[in-house]
Amino acid sequence: MCYKPKYSIFSLIVIAAILLAGCKSTPVSAPFSPSASLVITGDVEKEICLADYGDWPIVQRDYGDEKQKCIALLPLLSAAGITGEKVSVFFSSPDGAVAEIPLEQINENSLLRLSAEGGWQFIAPDHPPQVGIKFMDYIVIKASEPSFRASCVRIIDGENEQVLTYGELFMADRIERLVLDGQAKKGELLTNVYRRRSLIPLQNYIETTSREDIQTGLAFYASGDQGEISLEGFLEWRGNSVDYLGPDGKTRKKDLMGIWVDPPKLSIKQVVSKSLSAIEKGRVLVILLDGLSYYDVQRAKPEFLSSNNPKKAHTVMPSITPVSLAAALTGKLPNQTGITDRGMRELLSDDIFVELDKMGKTSAMVSGEMKVINTSKEQILNPDLNGDGSTDDEVFACAKKQLEKEIDFIFVHFHGYDDVAHTHGPLSSEALEKLTLLDGYVEELVSNFKGTIFIIADHGQHETFGEKLGDHGEFRLLDMTIPWIEIERGV
Ligand SMILES: [Zn+2]
Repeated sequence: MCYKPKYSIFSLIVIAAILLAGCKSTPVSAPFSPSASLVITGDVEKEICLADYGDWPIVQRDYGDEKQKCIALLPLLSAAGITGEKVSVFFSSPDGAVAEIPLEQINENSLLRLSAEGGWQFIAPDHPPQVGIKFMDYIVIKASEPSFRASCVRIIDGENEQVLTYGELFMADRIERLVLDGQAKKGELLTNVYRRRSLIPLQNYIETTSREDIQTGLAFYASGDQGEISLEGFLEWRGNSVDYLGPDGKTRKKDLMGIWVDPPKLSIKQVVSKSLSAIEKGRVLVILLDGLSYYDVQRAKPEFLSSNNPKKAHTVMPSITPVSLAAALTGKLPNQTGITDRGMRELLSDDIFVELDKMGKTSAMVSGEMKVINTSKEQILNPDLNGDGSTDDEVFACAKKQLEKEIDFIFVHFHGYDDVAHTHGPLSSEALEKLTLLDGYVEELVSNFKGTIFIIADHGQHETFGEKLGDHGEFRLLDMTIPWIEIERGV
């Protein structure tokens, strides 16, 4: 079967054709009706929406005496880009019929046919006839294990983490509800307008029986926004995304990435407000230890850090350095900082250095070899001058020098723990050795300083297997929980 790679002009034309065809883009929760369009969705990079065969290669199939024109399913799946492991494919029609096939059983004889008498139909002569669902509206890909940083919904509850892929949520238990959309009026006559919604109660996934005091959680969205939500609310399956709906079944927040049932009260973005209020009383030193999870401090117990009452704080999504550093320097969420992913550097909102300037306070930012994001204050960069494979010793020496200058606000970013934890795994002996070294650096910086000190991380890491032994960027307890240490010396 000849198929061109995902980003070829060919597939762009197909996508453009699909868009022009005005395909429905989201699942219907209204009463079902036979539909001419078929959506391939679920755990895929992008939905594919078919109004007709478009430019997909036509396959001729002998059927009795006649030849039928079909298109093959495999190229479509490969164009959609499956985002996970242990994959099943569901063929679904609006009347409720669904057939499931493991991905590995889809072969070159697995075809799709569009006809007046059968709508979109799955044609697979090698399979039992029951797979031949007619008038299909959805082909849903279900991955039981999402690939790294693939979109899905995660729920953190205590130390438990649940992963709900979009395909799994397609299968979820739902309730049907008539939700009042509004009231229409003509003269004296009133009409109530409803929408029938098929909702997944969030309570299906949350153990609150023993903790009735917990009624809200913190939700994280793909836009980088966060906010408190009621746990009485719902999830709405949208194909390859999920929306959160409030208990009224109506208030909608799009593209949910995760819910933290009992999040730490402190947030990385509070570095700004807390520093600005502390600076009224004296100098402020912020030390950021890249990649250090709160739980690494808990388990490794580095002498200085763990003896200074480390608290838990939550970071932002995705849990990667540019995004969380932007939040720590502006006090804003990613959807406001403008830095929502790797490779983005320009802040859309003022950073703390602008505020400090306005207050007439002096400031400095000490970083490693490269700027992760652009700041209003020129950062003092520290390449690995002695070639020992780390910039931490250079950052430490530079920070010490800056502290001697009586500057009001100093932000110091140590990068080394993250690097070692990626290579050897968080809590590996190499990572522990690095943590001990940094613990000593931090102790020395703090002991030479009078004022308020905040020691934080940008994000944590979780163990992985393969080329890297540690990674982050996902909505996971270890990636999202950072340490927060606050010390006042001689203020
Ligand atoms: Zn990293």
